[in-house]
Amino acid sequence: MRLRAAYLAAGLGAVMMAGPGAAVAGCSGPFQFPVEDLDQSVFRQVLEVTRDEIERFFDFTFDAFCMDDEEYGAYYDIRANTLVVGTQFFLDVANPPGNINRAIGVIAHEAAHAFQTKHGLLNMLIETNPHRVKCIELHADFLAGGYMGWRARQYDIDVSKMTEMFFDLGDDMTQNDGHHGLGPERFLSFRQGFNTVTDDEITLSSMGIAYVSQAKCD
Ligand SMILES: [Zn+2]
Repeated sequence: MRLRAAYLAAGLGAVMMAGPGAAVAGCSGPFQFPVEDLDQSVFRQVLEVTRDEIERFFDFTFDAFCMDDEEYGAYYDIRANTLVVGTQFFLDVANPPGNINRAIGVIAHEAAHAFQTKHGLLNMLIETNPHRVKCIELHADFLAGGYMGWRARQYDIDVSKMTEMFFDLGDDMTQNDGHHGLGPERFLSFRQGFNTVTDDEITLSSMGIAYVSQAKCD
């Protein structure tokens, strides 16, 4: 979600230039530790189950799922193939009780970047429009929505809390290369994905690309 522009640029460079074997396995950051080592057992359990489900849904396997005590946000580390979530950020998003699905929505958005990387979509989405970060981000919001819609068949999910959060995550920096999308655009992308009923991730992604292209990302 808070995939910073600079970070994304670095990640894209790694995708395009680094060959196989460049990956570093495990939670390698100085303040990182695996989710399995988390103290709060309830959250640990939720996160472990979420990772399993997300990997199944997106047909993708992370090398590690890490908490980071110094990061305030979440990101997919392309080089290490790890999903990283700031510990305090996670607690803030998941609280007060009843908001755990918001945190899972953020994690799903980051997992969507892993899916995009696996399928070579980062380059393709960049070619769609010069507002490249925004195309990638709105597509990730759509995929996160699709996952949460799928999840809503098993769990009780208040979609208004989710759409509210994606609205709030929007930014107004339309002239900035790191612009992720306006609040209404992010909210709509997420909701469109949520309302797309499919358990096939490739179909979901194609529909997301069609949606993003239509929105022209600008
Ligand atoms: Zn993102």
